[in-house]
This record gives sequence, C-alpha cells and structure tokens, in this order.
Amino acid sequence: MRTMPPSHPFDDDKLKEECGVFGAVGVTDAASFIALGLHALQHRGQEAGGIVTYDPEANFQSARRFGYVRDNFTSQKVMETLPGSIGIGHVRYSTAGSKGTTAIRDVQPFFGEFAMGGAAIAHNGNITNADSLRRELIERGSIFQSSSDSECIIHLMARSLQRNIPERMKDALRRVEGAFSVVAMTRTKLIGVRDPRGVRPLVLGKIGEKGYVLSSETCALDIIGAEFVREIEPGEMVVISDDGKLTSSKPFEQQASRFCIFEHVYFSRPDSILEGRSVYETRRQIGVELAKEAPVEADLVCPVPDSGTPAAIGFAHESGIPYGMGIIRNQYMGRTFIEPSEQIRNMGVRLKLNVNRALIRDKRIILVDDSVVRGTTSRKIKDMLLDAGAAEVHFRIASPPTMWPCFYGVDTPDRDKLLAAQMTVEEMRQHLDVDSLQFISLDGLYRAAGVAEGRNNAKPQYCDACFSGEYPVAPTDMLAKGFELKPAAE
Ligand code: SF4
Repeated sequence: MRTMPPSHPFDDDKLKEECGVFGAVGVTDAASFIALGLHALQHRGQEAGGIVTYDPEANFQSARRFGYVRDNFTSQKVMETLPGSIGIGHVRYSTAGSKGTTAIRDVQPFFGEFAMGGAAIAHNGNITNADSLRRELIERGSIFQSSSDSECIIHLMARSLQRNIPERMKDALRRVEGAFSVVAMTRTKLIGVRDPRGVRPLVLGKIGEKGYVLSSETCALDIIGAEFVREIEPGEMVVISDDGKLTSSKPFEQQASRFCIFEHVYFSRPDSILEGRSVYETRRQIGVELAKEAPVEADLVCPVPDSGTPAAIGFAHESGIPYGMGIIRNQYMGRTFIEPSEQIRNMGVRLKLNVNRALIRDKRIILVDDSVVRGTTSRKIKDMLLDAGAAEVHFRIASPPTMWPCFYGVDTPDRDKLLAAQMTVEEMRQHLDVDSLQFISLDGLYRAAGVAEGRNNAKPQYCDACFSGEYPVAPTDMLAKGFELKPAAE
C-alpha cells in the first residue's frame, strides 16, 4: 500500500528541504548503510526514497518507494534485492507544484545506461535553468522519463563525448545553473559533487578499512559509526573507487562560497556539524543574539518545539528569564493519522502541539520559533496560549522575515503567500495579534553562524536570498516566467 506521510494544515507553514542524499562504497551490504543514512536524513524529505546498488552478479538494482525509509527499507524482502558493496540513495520532499502528484518515476536515484556502463545519480538542490535545458534536450532527441529537473543531468551526460562517467558528469554539470549537491555511482566508483557556490551541504565520511560514505549531513555518519573526514568543498568533485582510492578535482570556474544560511537555522538536524560548527550551538547563539537585539520583560521563555528549542535556550540564558516547555509536541501524531479525516484536519495545530497549561497560566510568555512563513501556525499557537491563560505573548523569531521564495531546492510558497512579503513587522504583529513580534537581524544571524563582523553587504558570505532578495545565482527559469527580482535600489 502506498503510505504517504501526512500533509496537515500546520505543515504548510514551514519551509521544507526537498532532498537528502547518501552514498557508500567499499562496504559489505551497502544498501543497509544507505538505508540507515537515509533514515537519519529523513527530516530533509519525507515523501519518498530510493536506493540503487551495484553487484557484479546482480548488476544494477534499485528500489523506489513512497513514504518513510523505516517503512520501506527495513524489510528483508526489499533489502535482499539490493546487493553490493556500492550504492547511493535519496529522500525527497515534493516540490510546491507537484505535491501529491509525484509519480514513482520522479523518485530518485535516476539511472542511465551509457556506452561505458551504467550510472545512477541522486541530487539535492534545484537546477534553475532546468526548463531551458529540458527544452533543448527534448528538441535534440532526449526522451525524459520524469518531471524532475535532476533528470537533465543524466541526459546531458548522455550527450557528452567524454570517455568516462566522471568526465561526462563534469560536462553535464558545467551546463547546469543553480544549486546541486550530487552523489553518483558507476559499477566501481562513488562520486560526490557540490555546485561552485556550495549552496547545499555534502560531507565525506570513512568507514572501515576501505569504505567511504557521502552524506548531506554528518548526523547520517554518526548513525552508521562512520568517521567524519571533511566537507566536500564548493565546486569540488570527489571520485572514490571501490579499492578506497580517492581523487579530487575542481571542474568549475571558481566562485565565492554561498552556503544556505537557512541550513543553520532550520533545515539541518541540530546534532549535525556544518562548516565546522555545531548546528545546535549556532541555533543557541541565535537565541543569544535575539535576546540582545529584542529584549522584553517576561516571565517565561518557551520554544515552539522542536526547531525553536535551541534558540529559546539561548534566549533564556542571555536574558536571565526562566526557560520552560510551555508547548509540548506530540511526537507520534504523524504515525497515528496517516490520512486524517476532515474533522481531524480541522483540529490543525492541536494535533501536533499542546499547551502545558499549568506552566503558562498567568505568565508573560516569550515564544521562540525558527521562522514565520504564512503565519497561520503562529496565530494558532498564540490563540492556544491565550486560551490556556497566558497573560501576554511575545514572539521572537530565529530568522529574519522570509520575504522571497527559494529557488535552490527548498519548497517555498509564492511571494504573495509569504506574510513578510505582504506586511511590515508591525502589520504582522497586528495580524498575529501578539503583544510584540521581533525577528533576528541578518547581521545577528551571521554573527550567530560564526561571522563575527556580520554580513558583508557587498559580498555576502552566505546565500540569504529568502531574507534579502539577493539571489547568488539568477533564477533563469523563473525570470522567464515573469518573476521580478528586487530592484537594485530597494
Ligand atoms: S534562498 Fe534561503 S532557503 Fe534557499 S538556499 Fe538561499 S538561504 Fe537557503
């Protein structure tokens, strides 16, 4: 049965990472490592997952399924079909336009058979010129199997005249604009590549004598006991053969790094290490900066669990105001209502979050959340707190106002659905009907991420386009569809 993870009203009020990738080579039973790695990366995409492996006797094998990794890649029946010591895997969240309509053919990894042998790829990110590439490729005879932008890479590889797969990948990726962290495999090689700006993460780990793994995040190394080696650098390609030999190259024109700052705020797991920094510590530090920038008299600092928790701890520490779990999250709700009825849907946020009445009654509450997207959830949470007897509600948000859509692999509503694109902060405060509302500044966020001097406005050190409207890579396809960039003088 197709077990689709639930879609609930409050899920629509968060930005969503669209993919996680994982690959392994030089290990016995690569598929088991990949399944565990994908399980640890499940927060990056819950709609579907896939694994491809290679074994000299069984050739390339694949399994692609809708739903959670734990439901699909734990049964012996499935795992026995994926033999081999090399493989790659992918978890995905559907893009805004395809939600609920994704076909199994859109589920990665994608596979192509070339003259020199087969290759599979799994892509995290988004190709911003995919429409024009697709048109060109179709005109020249390519037959697409899916609606995914990532499939362009396979077709571009097919058209390359290079004699081996890594060189064909370089040719293909030089034509691609946007954000990509790709893991790929041939019969004997595991390949990892990051786009020249390194927008999305990709790390290298070592396991056993000759084994290597590539993963979107370090938390997936921990689950299999792999040792973190280093991050794949922006614009770097590593090729690891099944005898443990690793080669590195820089096939693209060099660009300044523009890593996604929202990975620090929200997407990555707090137990991951990004750019040498603990994600948890960065989030805690965001709370410290917020408390300095936006202090308010109150009795209790509460997180919106789970993603607001480290920032709330930092806020409480810096402000000296006690920290408390004023809102409790029901961890098992998603499993209970796989296909909720209309009546249950209408309960909305209450399905997932409940107020700890005894703690918040008659108190002035500082509520720390990671972001405000549409604002629908924030309003409901405020109502729940007031219904339960809170005296005041002050929102503190651990990211700047989200005013622009992301075109680099994160599911964002259109601008007209982003509350901060439609209202000033004071208008948002009135709309949410809270006693005060403050967002961390971009500089404060940069400082929390370890950039002591704050944002360099002439050359920003991160991608922060969803806050600033300054896109490090022109969103070619969206511009062709009429998307308007922020005027230079704004
Ligand atoms: S636009 Fe925002 S979410 Fe997208 S890559 Fe840039 S910082 Fe990350």
